[in-house]
Amino acid sequence: REIATDMRTLTRQVEQFARNKKIEIETLKVREAYRKEFLGNISHELKTPLFTVQGYIDTLIEGAHKDKAIRKKYLARAQKGVERLTYIVNDMDMITKLEIGDMNLEKTDFDIVELVRQTFDQFEMKAAKKSISLVFDMVYSKPIMVHADQERIQQVISNLLVNSIKYGKPNGTTEVAIEDLINNKIILRVTDNGEGIDKTYIPRLFERFFRVDRTGSRREGGSGLGLAIVKHIVEAHQERIYVDSELGIGSEFSFTLEKVNSIKKAKEAASS
Ligand code: ADP
Repeated sequence: REIATDMRTLTRQVEQFARNKKIEIETLKVREAYRKEFLGNISHELKTPLFTVQGYIDTLIEGAHKDKAIRKKYLARAQKGVERLTYIVNDMDMITKLEIGDMNLEKTDFDIVELVRQTFDQFEMKAAKKSISLVFDMVYSKPIMVHADQERIQQVISNLLVNSIKYGKPNGTTEVAIEDLINNKIILRVTDNGEGIDKTYIPRLFERFFRVDRTGSRREGGSGLGLAIVKHIVEAHQERIYVDSELGIGSEFSFTLEKVNSIKKAKEAASS
């Protein structure tokens, strides 16, 4: 009887081992498929600007360089292609670093109101080209101190502003608002009244390379990585990102941040 019990235990262990191995293999298969898709996407994204640059250079070498006006025009277009390649490679570099957890956050205390203002300044021209107004209410005249990695948070705000302009309607508005939450947090909202997003796509928005309309997005530039970067940065801060959007009405992207804990700071100062 003892032998029979041992055999049953052994069978159970073998079965459990086989189940674990199967799960392991399935996980590896999923990872492998993911890796292949990622590499496929990378080469796809890089090929378009590469072919553009190559095309202009070939045409110049074949004789177009002799005409000064054409030479200038084609070189400018090739330069645009190289700029786009650099932009995509930088985004890929950043997402890779974020995904392997290689990006150390350098948290400091800074004024988020001032950071929004600075970022607005950078996008004023871009917005004006589409007659989009960037609105940040005057109620934000006092500093709101947060504890985060300033450079990365600026990247988050920039990516959200770029999108609100890219997918915004001409003559539309992009508004940034900051609200206090409980637990010493704030929420920063970037709202536009642009084209909006169909509900079915919302769960996939933060995936790498995901775009609702590939042809439209390509025309507008971008790498399909902007929101994936935003999500990584926000989550690296242990904070949350939200999206609310309605097709034809507009979108709102928002994320939370930790405020500087003034009581804790005062206690630390007092004890040191
Ligand atoms: P992309 O480089 O294509 O802009 P993102 O990761 O920044 O890549 O955004 C992914 C997709 O989400 C975009 O292609 C677009 O379809 C959609 N999207 C992002 N922001 C907005 C917005 N404010 N309004 C409408 N659609 C948006």
